[in-house]
Amino acid sequence: KASVMEGDEFVDERQTESLEKSKAQSALEKLQEERKTLPIYPYRDQLLQAVNDYQVLVIVGETGSGKTTQIPQYLHEAGYTKRGKVGCTQPRRVAAMSIAARVSQELGVKLGHEVGYSIRFEDCTSDKTVLKYMTDGMLLREFLGEPDLASYSVVMVDEAHERTLSTDVLFGLVKDIARFRPDLKLLISSATLDAEKFSDYFDSAPIFKIPGRRYPVEINFTKAPEADYLDAAIVTALQIHVTKPPGDILVFLTGQEEIEAAEEIMKHRTRGLGTKIAELIICPIYANLPTELQAKIFEPTPDGARKVVLATNIAETSLTIDGIKYVIDPGFSKIKSYNPRTGMEALQVSPISKASANQRAGRSGRTGPGMCFRLYTAYSYYNEMEDNTVPEIQRTNLANVVLTLKSLGIHDLVNFDFMDQPPSEALLKALELLYALGALNKLGELTKLGRRMAEFPLDPMLSKMMVASEKFKCSDEIISIAAMLSIGNSIFYRPKDKQVHADNARMNFHTGNVGDHIALLKVYNSWRETNYSTQWCYENYIQVRSMKRARDIRDQLEGLLERVEIELTSNLNDLDAIKKTIISGYFPHSAKLQKNGSYRTVKHPQTVHIHPSSGLAQVLPRWVVYHELVCTSKEYMRQVTELKPEWLVEIAPHFYQLKDVEDLSSKKMPRGQGRASAPGEAGS
Ligand code: ADP
Ligand code: MG
Repeated sequence: KASVMEGDEFVDERQTESLEKSKAQSALEKLQEERKTLPIYPYRDQLLQAVNDYQVLVIVGETGSGKTTQIPQYLHEAGYTKRGKVGCTQPRRVAAMSIAARVSQELGVKLGHEVGYSIRFEDCTSDKTVLKYMTDGMLLREFLGEPDLASYSVVMVDEAHERTLSTDVLFGLVKDIARFRPDLKLLISSATLDAEKFSDYFDSAPIFKIPGRRYPVEINFTKAPEADYLDAAIVTALQIHVTKPPGDILVFLTGQEEIEAAEEIMKHRTRGLGTKIAELIICPIYANLPTELQAKIFEPTPDGARKVVLATNIAETSLTIDGIKYVIDPGFSKIKSYNPRTGMEALQVSPISKASANQRAGRSGRTGPGMCFRLYTAYSYYNEMEDNTVPEIQRTNLANVVLTLKSLGIHDLVNFDFMDQPPSEALLKALELLYALGALNKLGELTKLGRRMAEFPLDPMLSKMMVASEKFKCSDEIISIAAMLSIGNSIFYRPKDKQVHADNARMNFHTGNVGDHIALLKVYNSWRETNYSTQWCYENYIQVRSMKRARDIRDQLEGLLERVEIELTSNLNDLDAIKKTIISGYFPHSAKLQKNGSYRTVKHPQTVHIHPSSGLAQVLPRWVVYHELVCTSKEYMRQVTELKPEWLVEIAPHFYQLKDVEDLSSKKMPRGQGRASAPGEAGS
C-alpha cells in the first residue's frame, strides 16, 4: 500500500489532487448505486421497523443478498450507533477483514476509523469505530472485560447457520444479557432457510426473510467416484475454461496446501494451451492468505479473460464473489474431529453435508443461470451424505470454552442454555484437562492459575505454558515459541526448483536435534539478531510475511505477560528449562517410540507418527512431546520435542505415575506424588 501512496505523492499537484478527489467521489457514488441493487435494499425500511419493534430478530437471506455489508450500515444510518457500537460477528477472520474493508469503502472512510475489525492478535479499530466486524471468538473474549457488552447497542451474530463453537456459546451469553439489557438489539442472521431452530431458541423471535434472487443451477454428478478429487477438479476447471461460454469458475478445496498445489498445476497446464485460449486468472482464497492478495478475488474479471477462484469453505456463505457461473464441488472440507475418550483432536478432510453441497451449488446461480459440477455420484449425494454438518460444539475439544465460561463466573455448565448440548463426555474431558493443567481445583472452581491462563487468547495448554515460563525463568523464549506456533506451518517455504537448498537451510536450525520448538525459537531469534532482515529470510527460505506476523503476535503476548505480572526473562542457555516449560503445558501430549518406528501416546494409547516435516523425523527419540496431531494419510504429530520421561512425573505428578514411564532404564525416579493434591500450584 505504502509504496503506491509514495508514488502518488511524488506527482502531487493541485490539479491531480482535485482530479483524484473527483475520481474518489464518483467511485463512492458508484458504490452507493451498487448498494441499491442488492436484494436486501427494497426491505431496508421494513427491516429497520422490525428491529425497532423487536429485541431479537432472526434474519434469513441467500448469500449475497447484502446481510453482512448492508444491515450494519442501515442501523448506522438509522442512528443506532449514537447509543453504542454495532458489532457483527463472523466465524472466519478473512471474512471479518474483507467485509470491514468493503464497508469502509462504501462509507468512504478509512478502515479502522468508523468501520473496523477485530480478529485474534489484530485489532483494527479505534475510538471512532461504530461498525465493528469481528470473529465470533473475539466477541466471546470481550465478555471477559465487559460482561454486559455495555458499549454495544446492537449485536449481530452473523453466519449463525455455521454453528461454530464460539457462535453457539455466544448464543447462550447474548440471550442471557438481552434479559437485563432491554435496550440491546440482537440480530441472528443466517443463510439457510431452516431458521425455526434459531427462533425457537430465542423464545420465538420473529423471522425476517429476505427473498433472494436465484437463477436455476444445472447440477452434474460424476458417473463413478473420483479416485483423485484434486486432479478431477483441475481437469474439470480447465475443460470448462476451454469449452464453456464466459463466466468465472469457483472451485471448493479443503485448505491452503491443496489450493497452492492446484494453483501450481493449473499455471503449468494453462501454459501449454496456446494463445488462442483466453487468459485464465487464478485467484486463491484461504484463511492465511495475506491481506493484500485477498482483494484480488473481488476485482472484476477483464473482458476476454476468465477467473478461477480456488477457495476453501469460506466461499460457501461467508464471502460472496460476483460473476461466478460455474462451481466445482469435490465434496470435501476440512473438519475438526474430536475423540472425547482419548482427548485427541484432529483436522480431517471429510465429506461435506447435503446442506453444504446445496450452498456451494447456489454460488453459481446468483447473477444468472449457473452450473455445478459435483465430483461425486448422485448415489453418494442421496445415500451417503449427512443432511447437515454436526455443530462444532459436538465434535471439538471444549477446554478453551469451559475455561472462558468459568472465568465469566458460569459454573454450572451442564445446565448452561446451549442450543445443542455438547456431549457430556467432552465436557467432562475438558474439566479433567483444566484440572490437570491446574486451572480448576477439585471442585471445578477457577484457580488463581486458571485466572491468569484465561487472560491469554490461546488454547489452555499454550496458556499454561506461558504461565509456567515464570517458574522456569524463560518467558522471553516461550513467547517467541508460542508466537511461532500460532503461525502454523507457513514459516518455511520450499520452492520446487530449490528443495535441497531449502531443506538444508531448514535443517540448520535443527543442529543438535534440539527439536521443533527450539528450532522455531532459533529461527525467531536469528531473525531478530539481523534486526528483522528481509534478506535474511530470503536466504534461509523463510516466509517474511509469516515472521512479521509472528513478531506482531509476540508483541501482543509480551503485553499480556505484563498483565498477568510475569517478568520478561531470558534463559536461553538452559534448553532443559525451556523444554520443561513446554511440557508444563503439553504433558498430556506425550508419546513413546515403538519398535517399528511409530509412537504410542502415553495416556490414551494410540499409534501416531512424527510428521515428515519435523527435524526429529529421522532421529526418532524414545520419548517426545508434541504440539498437535494432524491426520492426513496417518496420524501425525506436528512440532515435536524430545523429553526425559522423569520430567513427566516431576512436572505432572497428578497426571503421570511412575508406572506410565517405568519401563525405561532409568534407575532413580523422582517421587513426586506428594504434590498430587495441588496441581493448581504446579506451575505458579
Ligand atoms: P450476504 O451477507 O447476504 O451474503 P454480503 O453483504 O456479504 O451478502 O454481500 C453483498 C455484496 O457485497 C455482494 O455482491 C458482494 O459481492 C459484495 N462484497 C462483499 N464484500 C466485498 C468485498 N470485499 N469487495 C467487493 N465486493 C464485496
Ligand atoms: Mg454474509
